[in-house]
Amino acid sequence: MDVYLAKPRGFCAGVELAVEIVDLALKKYGPPIYVKHQIVHNSVVVAKIEAKGAITVNSVEEIPTDSIVVFSAHGSPPSDYEKAKKRNLTVLDAICPLVTKVHNEAKKYSAEGKKIILIGHKGHQEVLGTSGQAKMDIIDDKNPDIPKYDKSSDIAIITQTTLSVKDTKNAVESVKKYYPKSIVRNDICYATTNRQKAIESLSTKVDIILVIGAKNSSNCNRLKETVEKMGKPAYLISSPREIKKEWFQKKNKIGITSGASTPEIQVESILKYLSPKNIYESKEGNEDIVFTIPRQLRFLTKK
Ligand code: SF4
Repeated sequence: MDVYLAKPRGFCAGVELAVEIVDLALKKYGPPIYVKHQIVHNSVVVAKIEAKGAITVNSVEEIPTDSIVVFSAHGSPPSDYEKAKKRNLTVLDAICPLVTKVHNEAKKYSAEGKKIILIGHKGHQEVLGTSGQAKMDIIDDKNPDIPKYDKSSDIAIITQTTLSVKDTKNAVESVKKYYPKSIVRNDICYATTNRQKAIESLSTKVDIILVIGAKNSSNCNRLKETVEKMGKPAYLISSPREIKKEWFQKKNKIGITSGASTPEIQVESILKYLSPKNIYESKEGNEDIVFTIPRQLRFLTKK
């Protein structure tokens, strides 16, 4: 068996930043540091920060008053900041700058009096955060139910950052059939785009693909779907325990990718289990994007 590693794969700059903010907070204040929502959608990453003294909670209401809390990379609605203020919490926001960009777009278009359509998955943490920034209608990328506005309305289309590039393009086209003059923002982030592009290309060269990461990771699920759309079998797994031998019957070329919140250690454990004859990895596909600690949190880096 030969393994072909997709490139890029794994951690994006937003995930690196979020984890760094939790680490800095733990160093500055000592445990416990509360984290609202999983810092990123990956149980290995969550377990690692929890071992150092972070406590993950699902809502602000669960956090004791006067505590320190890190808000997750996915972004949060204004109501969470209001609740935190009432509890006298110190909030350290680990929102990815590319999600902040979408929040700012929403606020801008709202101030301009435009109707906003957010393409995204209802209930996903990022969508909860973005939809809290301004009045908007949320439509699904796969089954877009187009809101009926006055035909003369000014429309702005914004999106969740971790969607399928192709499904989102189709959803945008559906909206534009009704509202041809809509402003469209390309909000799918570089990490999502690059990983989907890489796996699409790798799908043409291998027999099956393993996507390593969490089942609740939007990024990972979109990678799996991208492979399936290319007509190849794909399995989203987080550890070797989930691997079934029958997946590999008469299959010699195995592709491996991982989502933007998956640490490389999970890929390594799969490789160790498979112990392939050869491991191939493209020399191209490097990413050099790094997000620096935002100005308002730089005090965390000072002794
Ligand atoms: S996947 Fe994209 S939007 Fe999400 S944290 Fe990474 S860079 Fe930011």
